[in-house]
Amino acid sequence: MPPDAEQQMQFLYTLRTRGVTDPRVLTAMERTDRGLFVDGIFADRAYQDVPLPIASGQTISQPSVVGLMTQALAVHPRDKVLEVGTGSGYQAAILSHLGRRIYTIDRHRRLTRTAQERIEALGLTNVTVMTGDGSHGLPDQAPFDRIMVTAAAEDPPGPLLAQLKPGGIMVVPVGQSDSVQSLIKVTKSESGQFDYEELREVRFVPLVEGLGSD
Ligand code: SAH
Repeated sequence: MPPDAEQQMQFLYTLRTRGVTDPRVLTAMERTDRGLFVDGIFADRAYQDVPLPIASGQTISQPSVVGLMTQALAVHPRDKVLEVGTGSGYQAAILSHLGRRIYTIDRHRRLTRTAQERIEALGLTNVTVMTGDGSHGLPDQAPFDRIMVTAAAEDPPGPLLAQLKPGGIMVVPVGQSDSVQSLIKVTKSESGQFDYEELREVRFVPLVEGLGSD
C-alpha cells in the first residue's frame, strides 16, 4: 500500500529536519515509494527513518542517509551515474529521476533480479541493473559523471576514482566494516586531482570482493 497523506508528510518532514533540503532530491524521494522496496514483513516500517533488512543479509539504507548522499552527489539531468551496491533498488530508483542514465551493480544476483523487476514495474527505463563485483567499476560504460558507493570500503576504490570524469563527484562510505565509517565526498578536478570532504558518520555493510553466493 502506498503511504497515506499523513505518512508521506511525516516522511518528507523527517528528511528535511535531518538536512535533506534540495528540492530536486525531495521530489525524487516523494516520487519513489519506499514501501515497494522492502519485504512485506517490514511494510509497516517502510516510511520510518530506519534501515531495514533485505535479502542476502544486506540492508536498505535509512531514508535520511539516502537523501543526504543523493544531495551530496549533486546529480545533473544529463549525468551518467554509477551506483555500486544495488541492494533493494531504492537508491537507483531515486537516481533515475535525477540523472540521464543510471547503472547499478550488486554482487548478489538474488538482489539484482528483484531490483530489476521493481524498476521495470515502475517503468523506469533509464536504469541498467547488473550483477558483478562493482569494486572494479564498469569499464565498458566509464567514465561517469557521478559515482555513488552504498557499501563501506577501506579506501575509495582506485578503479572507481579512475572511472570518474574530470569535474565528477563520488560519494563513498570509508572505514572498517565493523565500526563507524565516514561518508566521504570525492571531487575530481578538471586536471584530475582529488579533493576529499568528510560529510558525516555512517554505518554501512562492507564492500566485499567477488560475486555473492546467491
Ligand atoms: N543502495 C541499496 C542499499 C545497499 S546495501 C538500496 O538502495 O537498497 C549494500 C549493497 O552493496 C549490498 O546489496 C551488497 O550486496 C552490495 N555490495 C557489497 N560489495 C559489493 C561489490 N563489491 N560489488 C557490488 N555490490 C556490492
